[in-house]
Amino acid sequence: MAYDYDLFVIGAGSGGVRAARIAASLGAKVGIAENLYLGGTCVNVGCVPKKLFVYASEFRAQREAALAFGWQQAEPEFQWPTLRDNTRAEVERLNGIYGRLLDGAGVSLHYGLASFVDAHTVDVAGQQITAEKILIATGGWPRRPSFPGAEHVLTSNEVFGLDTLPKKVLVQGGGYIAVEFAGIFNGLGVDTTLVYRKQLFLRGFDTEVREFVAEQVQQQGLTLRFNDDIASIDKNDDGSLEVSFVSGRRECFDAVFSAIGRSAKTSALNLSAAGVELDERGFIRVDDTFKTNVDSIYAVGDVIGRVQLTPVALAEGMALAKHWYAGEALAVDYSNIATAVFCQPNIATVGLTEDEARAQGLDFDVYASNFKPLKHTVSGLQECMLMKLLVDKQSDAILGAHVVGEAAGEMIQSVAVAMKAGASKAHFDQTIGIHPTAAEELVTMREPRA
Ligand code: FAD
Ligand code: NDP
Repeated sequence: MAYDYDLFVIGAGSGGVRAARIAASLGAKVGIAENLYLGGTCVNVGCVPKKLFVYASEFRAQREAALAFGWQQAEPEFQWPTLRDNTRAEVERLNGIYGRLLDGAGVSLHYGLASFVDAHTVDVAGQQITAEKILIATGGWPRRPSFPGAEHVLTSNEVFGLDTLPKKVLVQGGGYIAVEFAGIFNGLGVDTTLVYRKQLFLRGFDTEVREFVAEQVQQQGLTLRFNDDIASIDKNDDGSLEVSFVSGRRECFDAVFSAIGRSAKTSALNLSAAGVELDERGFIRVDDTFKTNVDSIYAVGDVIGRVQLTPVALAEGMALAKHWYAGEALAVDYSNIATAVFCQPNIATVGLTEDEARAQGLDFDVYASNFKPLKHTVSGLQECMLMKLLVDKQSDAILGAHVVGEAAGEMIQSVAVAMKAGASKAHFDQTIGIHPTAAEELVTMREPRA
């Protein structure tokens, strides 16, 4: 049967655009549907605007540090509309780039919400389109809480476009987004409280890292309320939000930002028309080849709920396109994926945490260093750094590396390469450091913890 396309991709985000572009550049006839914004979550309401906001939020502490380094000036005033509008302009520039990338690769873009008609047909804005293969790359969507008054919370979808910056904010959640936005609000001078339902936020990260970060962010003025959660929210006549906590406490905030995870974005897809199944968590179930239970339908990125990170969606989309149209082996290596949380100070990590290494029964040494970076010996800021290497006692292999501090993400990327290359602790020891940097600590930790 002749189809309209060899490949039709639903969703022009990180994974979808990459798969479409590569497939088209390898000679496939490719179409893609997008109903909201080119570039997906990362470009529009995720990584990019978030990181720009993080930069903005760092200037307050930098200004304090600057005073100690001799720079005197009048107290600068933060203008929220300038940050919001400059960020939006950059996002729009990127939208244009994504459009041109698709166009340049020969991918046909169909604007509109795509939904399945059958296993080889989708409907986009009333047009029926057929394809030999259909790739679902529809990403995720913020989960909304369900307590009374939950309609008053903001999520990451709304936060980038706020008319005004609130003066007092409550952040709900203890994952990446909550911790990053608590840092952003706090850095921008907003009176910020983070509420997390369990004992310590950032579950899944190294416990020592989590404890260290909790201490550091509190020193910067962030209020942490662990072992508590929001029970309900009432809106007052003046627009403020009266929050009742599970603990019984009540407090008024200008805004409540909720970040309690993201669900697969599938509700508009009419998956049942094609017979595509979800897993027990609501993500699209795929096998090792990213194939759903339907032979012609595949899925990559956040919608499959493996690792919700842009570089992973990109890797999955690229691997699949190269496999189909260049005959390459289908290989996405999920081991040792480096990741960063852009709170202040940043966390960056690759490999195992101490708890994971212990749970795997590994016999390992911990090399750790907790120190004040040179910059802060003069800056007057209290910011410290933490670095940890976990080393297998028998093989000397680096099992995990964790850095908390300025530019931690920039540092750990190279450590991740070293780990991919099989670096041992001896390789780190033999490497001559760059002085004076914070990163040199990674190659000068000589004694394991007792
Ligand atoms: P998406 O990028 O979400 O793309 C899906 C696209 O499909 C969207 O454009 C959507 O509009 C479209 N779509 C959905 N349904 C349909 C339909 N029925 N028809 C047509 N189009 C449809 N990751 C990092 O690695 N680093 C970070 O710093 C980082 N920061 C983040 C910050 C925030 C606030 C958030 C929310 C996420 C962040 N992420 C970060 C995660 C990252 O954004 C995602 O992992 C990544 O965007 C997933 O790519 P994807 O292609 O799977 O989906
Ligand atoms: P996460 O899954 O990281 O964290 C969700 C948080 O919300 C957890 O602390 C969780 O608690 C808590 N939670 C879940 N359900 C409830 C509930 N019903 N009530 C109260 N709290 C709840 O999700 P995020 O939304 O922060 O981010 C989604 C994903 O996006 C991340 O996992 C990450 O993959 C990606 N991302 C990556 C970034 C980066 O690379 N820098 C930045 C931002 C996002 P508990 O721990 O108890 O489960």
